[in-house]
Amino acid sequence: MDPAKPVRAEPVLQQQVRDWLQYGEELGLAPYYRDRPMTIEAVSTVAASPAGDSLAADAEFAGATDLKAPQTTANQTPMPPRKILKESAAALISPAHAGALFGEQRVEGDTLPVIRDFIGECTRCKLSKGRTKIVFGTGSPKAQLMFVGEGPGRDEDLSGEPFVGRAGKLLTDMIKAMGLQREDVYIANIVKCRPPDNRQPEQDEVAACSPFLMRQIDVIQPKVICTLGNTPTQTLMQTTQGISRFRGEWFEFRNAKLMPTYHPAYLLRNPAAKADVWKDLQKVMAVLGLQAPKKR
Ligand code: URA
Repeated sequence: MDPAKPVRAEPVLQQQVRDWLQYGEELGLAPYYRDRPMTIEAVSTVAASPAGDSLAADAEFAGATDLKAPQTTANQTPMPPRKILKESAAALISPAHAGALFGEQRVEGDTLPVIRDFIGECTRCKLSKGRTKIVFGTGSPKAQLMFVGEGPGRDEDLSGEPFVGRAGKLLTDMIKAMGLQREDVYIANIVKCRPPDNRQPEQDEVAACSPFLMRQIDVIQPKVICTLGNTPTQTLMQTTQGISRFRGEWFEFRNAKLMPTYHPAYLLRNPAAKADVWKDLQKVMAVLGLQAPKKR
């Protein structure tokens, strides 16, 4: 470089500043200027629960006495969805980013049996070595609501069904508390084979397996996807941020509304968090027009 020649650093510096501001905006630190709009506008939708007086079921899965019933009565119509500007978590993920990971391409004429056949006796990743059964997913192929967990545990590996162990029983109770049965929803996992010692699935395993989940989502076209815990939330939202940053807020994913909430296994260890999960599920119920069953 010729030391006598002035270096034109300004455009570079300007771009760096722009990038830095954009980064801060993504982290929810913006707006930086009162007279300028943010470049990323993340909008979340919150609706009041229509469940009204029928919150009995929550206690069944929550076992909690301190749950707060929403301030609505049985014959009150739910408030219309209210748009709120999310200045924090929602700004961390752009749907375009999530789309880029998995590809928006849908497989022409795809069905759940076709996907299952395509998976076959899979050896695409190392999890195949330790598995007993592939846990493909169960429930209604027309489900409006899909739950996505992390990966099969011991009970699921043996039975070939997702969420049948202790955490699974709690998930079943949560589904019932929403006024649904397991058969009404679809339940699947990020990986379809059990990770050894129930460790978290590794990146290569997620990369090998999650495209099948994307195809399942595209076939089922659920109105709402509820991710359970860190792994499915981080995978779908392409983030390393923890679940507590996102839970209870609405996001968009492949034409569905995405509601991250805590994993039932976490609730077994932290029963106090059931109240938060029930709030999240009530938001899902409001969107799907569900009523919690009346206590008998
Ligand atoms: N935990 C999960 O994430 N998935 C299951 O299927 C069972 C337990």
